[in-house]
Amino acid sequence: MKKIIVLFVTVLAIAGCTDKQKTAKERMNKQEFNYVADQFADLQILRYRVSGFENLPLQQKQLLYHLSEAALMGRDILYDQNNRYNLAIRRLLEAVYLDYRGDRHAEPFRALEVYLKRIWFANGIHHHYGEDKFNPGFSPEFLADCIRRIDASRLPLRPEQTANQLMAEVFPVIFNPAVMPKKTVQSGNQDLIAASSNNYYAGGLTQKEVEDFYAKMVDPNNATPVSYGLNSRLVKEEDGTIAEKVWRQGGLYTQAIERITGELEKAIPYTENSKQKAVIEKLIEYYKTGDLKTFDQYAILWVEDTASDVDFVNGFTETYGDPLGIKASWESTVNFINKEATKRTRVISDAAQWFENHSPIDERFKKKEVKGVSAKVITVSMLGGDCYPATPIGINLPNADWIRRDHGSKSVTIENITEAYDRASQGSGFNEEFVWSDAERNAIQKYGFITDNLHTDLHECLGHGSGIILPGVDPNALKAYSSTLEETRADLFGLYYLADPKLVELGLTPDASAYKAEYYKYMMNGLMTQLVRIEPGKDIEESHMRNRQLIAGWAYEKGKAGNVVSFEKKNGKTYVLINDYAKLRGLFGTLLAEIQRIKSEGDFKAGQKLVEDYAVKVNRPLHAEILERYARLNLSPYKGFVNPVMKEIKNNRGEVTDVIVDYTEGYAQQMLRYSKDYSFLPAYN
Ligand code: ZN
Repeated sequence: MKKIIVLFVTVLAIAGCTDKQKTAKERMNKQEFNYVADQFADLQILRYRVSGFENLPLQQKQLLYHLSEAALMGRDILYDQNNRYNLAIRRLLEAVYLDYRGDRHAEPFRALEVYLKRIWFANGIHHHYGEDKFNPGFSPEFLADCIRRIDASRLPLRPEQTANQLMAEVFPVIFNPAVMPKKTVQSGNQDLIAASSNNYYAGGLTQKEVEDFYAKMVDPNNATPVSYGLNSRLVKEEDGTIAEKVWRQGGLYTQAIERITGELEKAIPYTENSKQKAVIEKLIEYYKTGDLKTFDQYAILWVEDTASDVDFVNGFTETYGDPLGIKASWESTVNFINKEATKRTRVISDAAQWFENHSPIDERFKKKEVKGVSAKVITVSMLGGDCYPATPIGINLPNADWIRRDHGSKSVTIENITEAYDRASQGSGFNEEFVWSDAERNAIQKYGFITDNLHTDLHECLGHGSGIILPGVDPNALKAYSSTLEETRADLFGLYYLADPKLVELGLTPDASAYKAEYYKYMMNGLMTQLVRIEPGKDIEESHMRNRQLIAGWAYEKGKAGNVVSFEKKNGKTYVLINDYAKLRGLFGTLLAEIQRIKSEGDFKAGQKLVEDYAVKVNRPLHAEILERYARLNLSPYKGFVNPVMKEIKNNRGEVTDVIVDYTEGYAQQMLRYSKDYSFLPAYN
């Protein structure tokens, strides 16, 4: 539940840098490093730099190397989780893409190329953010013609299946918009399980059957419950029995999981200390058994390892993809600490108890003792599964509430990703188009980078970790609304404290008005510009987008009487204007108190009402205007990353003497290489 993705990309300069630093920065920009790798459909593909990697000791480089290999081994798992046809369709299209002998610049093939690139980006046939199935943009006849020219051995056929039978099976999934139209349906009056076409539930299960199955497992008296259902597909067999198929070695996805544990085992000799070694060993044990108690033991060991420089996430982690928030998608990140930038987050985590005590929430919901909030700034060196190519800028784990309560949480800000966003977006014209006046633009220019990173730090490090759930309250009480409400809570915590004089006192913000830059950006984004990501006529589905509109829309509505925030017109264009920043902070505090109450008491009805009233519906005329203005800027609303290529250098005795990082690989090249070298699952699982 605890992931933050970039708000929107603006033109930001690093505030407060001297001319001399600027020249150094400009020089760096002019180096061959090319931040942009590709652009198509609504996507821009960037590269990130792994600064400092070359100076690490060889042992850490080797540890990072094997963890990075493990990060790539699970790629197919996510495809299969997202939809049961994803692997077959990806392989079918890759075979056509590699084999095509016609004009690769002519229209039907170009449309196929874009479609395949979108599938690679989304890890499947549905949009990674909007959840809708892609429209192929080429005809079934064209694809059928391509397939007939390919040797059958290269097609993802079931046993005894012919090419014609394969086409009969998968063409409706590719071409018929009515078949599996949405990956995940997050809310509404329909059966969320039946309406979602992801692969977490099978055999025609209904939402009621799933809820009943897991409700039986919840023991309100158990203070340390496992994350029920986290690592399995729930299946209804033909005889009507309902059972879990666990994702583990020897179980579902074993072919990929064996490779993951194989690389984790190779990483062990290079661990930095015994604690880190124990973390990896416990993770291997969990992958081998699928036992969720072992997963909790692993999570505790992981959260308590704060001394190691190298760190990673590898496993079934976040539950955004399941409308009921039970099943976790597979993901991985591999990283090492950025010691200089971590000084900033250390100041925040050291003051964690002060922030908890002064929070505007009811005393009953506060943590009496904030435990083990550890925060750091990291440099990622490999992204995999649900963190690739679309990437979070911050992560806070583990997700189990009782582990957070008893053992704390680890929170990271990924600064080489925010840096890449920043560099790639310079000169985009976005702020010139959408920000009200020079006053706001200058504030964003001066403070935006600092306050943006700080908001992420506060969101991850303190926001998610704050507050308690009252004893006896079911942690899953908010059901389909839990992700949105949890992100709302963390964002509000960050927004509320950004304006606190304590931040100036701690030396985190340069002065008492710096927060206004983030407030302006947040309100403009939540009320207006994030809509560039929504297609005309559609509502908002994704939980982070919902949370931002909830906050901005609620604050606008409640501040109307006092004219706190207004919409203004200039030359026929709509802008957001903040008239009273102090009152806006007060509103953020009020909403934070209410969202915390909803979570602490498990008040489903109130949570549902807030989300449905403020977070889902789109203002159609404003949406049309924003899309039209945005289209003229020629920007991509979504961004993602290619990974660097990591290579072991060996001497003539076969010993590894160095590990190097190479940035020259292109997007399609990387995806095809991964499909060749890191694809272990059968087409159907
Ligand atoms: Zn979050």
